[in-house]
Amino acid sequence: MASVRECPSCALEFEDTGDVETCPYCGYEFPQRRDSVRWVAWLLVLLLLWPAIKGLMYLFG
Ligand SMILES: [Zn+2]
Repeated sequence: MASVRECPSCALEFEDTGDVETCPYCGYEFPQRRDSVRWVAWLLVLLLLWPAIKGLMYLFG
């Protein structure tokens, strides 16, 4: 199901088929929300696990 989406860079409307990554008019690259959320999630996991990793390194290192 296609919907109309507005480019935040050039403000032109185009048909969003769901997998549009760049604006067909100006070439603006839309931020991939799912990817950035995944990165933030990984960073949070690393931050949460870091004390445990350091503790393990202290015990076994
Ligand atoms: Zn555009």
